[in-house]
This record gives sequence, structure tokens and C-alpha cells, in this order.
Amino acid sequence: MTTVETNLNQVRRQIAAACAAAGRSVQEVTLLAVSKTQPAAAVRAAHAAGQSAFGENYVQEALAKMDELADLPLQWHCIGPLQANKTRAVAERFDWAHAIDRLRIAERLSAQRPEHLPPLNVCIQVNVDGGPSKSGLPPHEALPLARAIVALPRLRLRGLMAIPEPQPDDAAARAVFARVAATFAQVRAALAAEAAPGQGASADFDTLSMGMSADLAPAIAAGSTLVRVGTALFGARPRPVK
Ligand SMILES: *Cc1c(COP(=O)(O)O)cnc(C)c1O
Repeated sequence: MTTVETNLNQVRRQIAAACAAAGRSVQEVTLLAVSKTQPAAAVRAAHAAGQSAFGENYVQEALAKMDELADLPLQWHCIGPLQANKTRAVAERFDWAHAIDRLRIAERLSAQRPEHLPPLNVCIQVNVDGGPSKSGLPPHEALPLARAIVALPRLRLRGLMAIPEPQPDDAAARAVFARVAATFAQVRAALAAEAAPGQGASADFDTLSMGMSADLAPAIAAGSTLVRVGTALFGARPRPVK
């Protein structure tokens, strides 16, 4: 067994245990393998072990990896903050973008999404703890942005994403994640109430992207449907070349 395969099995067991403890079905939680700064060979090994969804932060690095792995049926998620000059590459090459916190970026992604591809899946990043990462909207601004994104033809609004500051213990982490989950429930209910009959905007709003290597269990306890895991799968990251 490769190291990546061993690690994948270990993380899948952790996810299953967290789901069991929370009384949730393991089917409700997707594992996104965060492959930033890792070589294409590591992605290939993870795919051989049954993993197909990968997350990348740095667009240029991701494009090179995609080219190298073009023979594999992989799903690519852009999880890093997006600058306007990177939106075209993301619209053309990725399946998902998780860190949307400005309408201008969403509008560019929609305008630049090629017609031959399905709409780009997007999540709105919220910042519930005012953490210094500076990305993400305060929770009360999520609904106005969600309404605006639902109106964009080439995007499919899938949910919310958050990267809370590390907490001293699982109980504290779970409490912070619960604030994200509450915002998610509010936005989802509002979109459902406003959807025109037969329109699927709120049905698509099914993704709560939160939890990483160190805090996936409390994230799942609070309702996460997608955990983004790098270090626990691929080991410590080499310093990014920038
Ligand atoms: C790097 C990164 C991760 C993975 O973090 P690990 O602690 O290595 O699991 C998840 N989400 C985002 C947005 C990241 O930038």
C-alpha cells in the first residue's frame, strides 16, 4: 500500500467515526483531498486509491497539475481566495470555487464560464469569528450575495464555506462551526422561500464546506457536508513556490 492509500483509509475511518458519533450517514460527507503544493504523482496515487475530488489554492500550480493528469477523470475545486485576474482560468478549468466573497468575482466567473461546460459550482465564504484570514463575509452579508449569485446564469450556488481560526479543543471548534451551520440554515431557508415555483435554486444549496485535517470531527458534528483535508492525506506541505 502507498502512504497516500494508508492515509486515505485512515481519514475515511475518521470521517466514518465522526459521522457515527453525530448520528449522520457517512454518505452525507464528501472528502475533498487538498493537493496544493503536492506533486501530480501524489494526486495520481490518491486517485488510484479511489479519491477523485481534489482542492487547489494556487491557480497556476493547479493548471500545470491538471495538464499532467489530463488522462484521469478528476474533479477540481478552487479553494483559495480569487483575484479578478485569475477568474478566467478558474471558470475554464475548475468544477468548483469555494471562496467567493465578492459579487464582482462571481460575475466574472459566470461571464467567463464556457458554454460547453455545466455551470460552475460555487460556495460563499463566510467569516464567523473575524479571524485574521480576512477572507470571507460576515454572516449577515451571505444572504444578499447568495441572492445575487442565484441570478447569475453560469453559476450554481451550492452552499457556504468557512475556515475558522484553530480552537483550543473540539468543543470550542464545534461551537464556531455551529455558527456557520446556523448561517447556512438561514440562507437555505430564505432562498427556498423566495424561489419561484419549479425553480431549483434552493435545492442546489446543499453544501457546507468546513473542516480540515485538525478539526474535521467537530466540523462533521456541526453539520459539515464536505471536509477539505490536505496534511492528513499527503503529509506536511513543502513551502509553496511563489
Ligand atoms: C490548505 C487548506 C486546507 C487543508 O488544510 P490541512 O490542514 O492541510 O488539512 C483546507 N482548506 C483550505 C481553504 C486550505 O487552504
